[in-house]
Amino acid sequence: MQVELPDGKRLELPDGSTGAAVAQAIGPGLAKAALGTRVNGKLSDLQTTVPDGATIAIVTKRDGDAIALQRHTLAHVMAQAVREYFVEQGFSANSVRMGIGPVIENGFYYDFDLPRTLTPDDLEAIEARMRAIVAADLPLRKYELPRDAALERFVRLEDPYKTELIEDLQAGEAITFYEQGGESGFTDLCRGPHVPSTGAVTPHFKLMSVAGAYWRGDETRPMLQRIYGVAFTTREELDKHLWQIEEAKKRDHRKLGAELDIFILDDDVGPGLPLWLPRGGVMIDQIEKLAKDMEDAGGYQRVRSPHLSKESLFLKSGHLPYYEESMFPAMELDNGIRYFIKPMNCPFHHKIFDARPRSYRDLPLRLAEYGTCYRYEDSGALMGLMRVRSMQMTDAHTYCTEERFEVEFLKVIDMYVEYFRLFGIDDYVMRLSKHATEGLGKKYVDNQALWLKTEDMVRQAMISAGVPFVEEEDEAAFYGPKIDVQIRSAIGREFSLATNQVDFAVPDRMGLHYVGADNERKVPLVLHRAPLSTHERLIGFLIEHFAGDFPVWLAPEQVRVVPIADRHFGYANRLVERLAAAGLRGTVDEGGDRMNAKIRAAELYKVPYIVIVGDNEEAGDRVSFRSRQEPERKDVAVEAFVAHLADAAARRLLKPEPLAA
Ligand SMILES: [Zn+2]
Ligand SMILES: [Zn+2]
Repeated sequence: MQVELPDGKRLELPDGSTGAAVAQAIGPGLAKAALGTRVNGKLSDLQTTVPDGATIAIVTKRDGDAIALQRHTLAHVMAQAVREYFVEQGFSANSVRMGIGPVIENGFYYDFDLPRTLTPDDLEAIEARMRAIVAADLPLRKYELPRDAALERFVRLEDPYKTELIEDLQAGEAITFYEQGGESGFTDLCRGPHVPSTGAVTPHFKLMSVAGAYWRGDETRPMLQRIYGVAFTTREELDKHLWQIEEAKKRDHRKLGAELDIFILDDDVGPGLPLWLPRGGVMIDQIEKLAKDMEDAGGYQRVRSPHLSKESLFLKSGHLPYYEESMFPAMELDNGIRYFIKPMNCPFHHKIFDARPRSYRDLPLRLAEYGTCYRYEDSGALMGLMRVRSMQMTDAHTYCTEERFEVEFLKVIDMYVEYFRLFGIDDYVMRLSKHATEGLGKKYVDNQALWLKTEDMVRQAMISAGVPFVEEEDEAAFYGPKIDVQIRSAIGREFSLATNQVDFAVPDRMGLHYVGADNERKVPLVLHRAPLSTHERLIGFLIEHFAGDFPVWLAPEQVRVVPIADRHFGYANRLVERLAAAGLRGTVDEGGDRMNAKIRAAELYKVPYIVIVGDNEEAGDRVSFRSRQEPERKDVAVEAFVAHLADAAARRLLKPEPLAA
């Protein structure tokens, strides 16, 4: 047989050679470092025979793929450790049964049916046993059994789970097993791929938790215990991951949002309907001001629309029936006329477009609104500010000609990138969300030719702008494809924040048109965009991203003035007035606490600047400050301090520029 290497070289090998034999033929050094293979682009392992004529690459520790092999083998190592652990405690080996053990993001899991419930102490003991199995460096042997023999084996072992898995496989299909540590070690029904031995896994792993999981996700089936583990190539990656998990708990927007008095959820108001407290109100004002500044510069015009409308509007727009599941039920008014609360602003903007005759000279027309919408989410899906039932969004619709599409579309993409820069978001992925053929006529407007054409317009626009993106099927809006932007916070949490959608269907449905340069009646394209998502999701995200340490422009309270003694109250209040005159938000702590307690209180509130004023400051018209964003300073002229903060706020800097000495 012959194989081809990545550099195009061909190797002649005996028939039925494995990946290991290929590595050995290339060189003994590589054979030693090899962890797996990539055969015709697909991840495989050294234990597997290579088909004649295949292109094969050897995977070593340095390959990004290696970690997937290692995580999978760690799942097997964990399963062996769990079985040994229970046998050692006097349980029979057959009483430890197993479901499935796949690789997941950052790690692996395995589902167990065990004689008793696991505790955190058990996890520690199991992890220690895993390290012993890794140290023993047991080879993983792969072999095949005919389906009947495999079935017979698990029936004999009285293992209902593996028996069921084999029964689901096609008759005649070869069934593969991986065995480590011989017959007495551990053998699993498994497709692989795996590293060649237990010693080849990364040492940077950790068992994280145990949780209940129904067999095959079916709540009528037995509940198994799922042990989760994480594993990374380097110690640094593992440490970073563990840090992110700890930080995520501390930064949880529900916890910090309450501590910082930003929002509440109230039982009488209802689930998913947040109330913004004054501090949250300030943040919202600042974000709306930002959006307005950006949209003014981008040639948008602002409009307003009501919170509800007659059914006929949503029938025309297609929200009924395509979007009905996400809408609140109808209200009947005026002798049986049905009204709906709006889930989106678009139909109203379309009516505004249609309110006047439009010619090509009026286009592009960009209509913007900070609209409040309501969407029905199942109560089980609601989560803090991230999944809510009432939401406000910086929404806008651009009506343009097909020729103008690319320019307008890319202007929107540029706007996203500018927002991300302002918020210090440097980890994001743009995704072209496309339709799926099966969904046509149900989830998606039934016109495949238009779908394909519009998806290609978006694809070409992204390519010509050099913006990297990925494509995904079955994620589009009902009226057209969209660009979804997945962003990651400073602690690695992923959110889908912004979308930029192309609508080729609704304008036509609603009879929107303009008169072209050729005097012909034409249907405009509509771009829907909401680059800052909703206030709810954005602020939830920002709380976690900044851990409550908001940049000066966004901080609800920018300066807390702490007078050393009561006699400094007058000076402190005059200082706050001077800040206010420069558009800055400050308060004076006139409470009866001691100075240190006041400083502590301001720190807990994460006020970016704490200004301390006493006799010296008052005499010299100066301030001394502590800041969460720059080194502490003493005796700064008030004028310089105010100008310093006003500059950071006006330019919406993430951190103020250093204050000259
Ligand atoms: Zn496996
Ligand atoms: Zn819209």
